[in-house]
Amino acid sequence: MQDKIWLSSPHMGGNEQQFVKEAFDANWVAPLGPNVNGFESDLKNYLGNAVEVAALSSGTAALHLGLIILGVQAGDEVLCQSMTFSASANPIRYQGAIPVFIDSEKETWNLCPLALEKAIKDRIEKGKKPKAIIAVHLYGMPYQVDAVHGIAEKYGIPVLEDSAEALGSFYKGIPCGTFGTIGVLSFNGNKIITTSGGGALVAHSQETKDKAIFLSTQARDAAPHYQHSEIGYNYRMSNICAGIGRGQMQVLDKHVGYRRAMHDFYKQLFQDYPAVRLFTEPNDAYTSNHWLSAITIDADQANGKTAEQLRLYLDQFNIESRPLWKPMHLQPVFESFPYYGGTVAQDLFENGLCLPSGSNLTDADRNRIAEAVHQFFK
Ligand SMILES: *Cc1c(COP(=O)(O)O)cnc(C)c1O
Repeated sequence: MQDKIWLSSPHMGGNEQQFVKEAFDANWVAPLGPNVNGFESDLKNYLGNAVEVAALSSGTAALHLGLIILGVQAGDEVLCQSMTFSASANPIRYQGAIPVFIDSEKETWNLCPLALEKAIKDRIEKGKKPKAIIAVHLYGMPYQVDAVHGIAEKYGIPVLEDSAEALGSFYKGIPCGTFGTIGVLSFNGNKIITTSGGGALVAHSQETKDKAIFLSTQARDAAPHYQHSEIGYNYRMSNICAGIGRGQMQVLDKHVGYRRAMHDFYKQLFQDYPAVRLFTEPNDAYTSNHWLSAITIDADQANGKTAEQLRLYLDQFNIESRPLWKPMHLQPVFESFPYYGGTVAQDLFENGLCLPSGSNLTDADRNRIAEAVHQFFK
């Protein structure tokens, strides 16, 4: 059996171990230290300096603290893109709040502005104005930023921007992660860069950043003894993980380049297969990091061949691929919550597939993928 070609695996740049070694040498092994500060300032520089960044233990932790800072409490309603990873929605339930799921539009696969506004009007009519909107840049593709934020402003609802998959993506030249009232990044093992596990909250004031750090370090009041007036969390990033992050920031642009090249490879590969549609930026306003390259297959046009059959076929060649995120409103754990929209997200889930997209794939890997795809469609 040939080596496994992974969907998206960690890709070290070279200097990560040096930063980690410095942390050991100076005994900065706790969740504070020079790497945490350095990583935060690297991210701040990358995102354009107008923001403040708090490094946390995961993207999920950042989403949870984001909701708390936006004032989401038990019984509140939070609008959330249905087509996403469960971590976008779970923190709503951590707060005891009610998720209201929204369908996607076909261009970016993200929040449908029409369904979003319909939901807001309807929830207000039913007596409750939603407390927040969770918008996701799926697979690195920016959502319709102008339309979504236009609606959010019209109704005065803050946006929690889930940019976990979109570090290195841009909308009209502005970095994803900086559009929301609060933004969220993830450095999980399979993301565009990794700290082995980690995340960040992107704020627009020092005050919000300080609040995030306060909550992430057990909400300790200023006193010599341990004094608490609020419920705290243990969500801060460790100085060891942040060291990996500093090394990864040195290669972020390069890795985005490799991922975008994988997307170009698939564009070439599928150009002779009209049944296959590659997930691509709708126009020049959008620059995706193409964290994952994804396709949909029109089975009618492909002699009945489906995305799931392609997944199983690639698996025989030890090539990993994965169905698209199953929409939250179709998940057993969330099916009792309200949903607004049609079947766009469901159709994408039923006909879509994510393909190997790592920044560390080789020409030999690409040849193996191309060969397997050609054989499948033959
Ligand atoms: C990965 C991911 C998260 C969660 O990030 P973690 O760091 O794994 O907790 C949240 N939302 C989306 C869309 C993600 O892909």
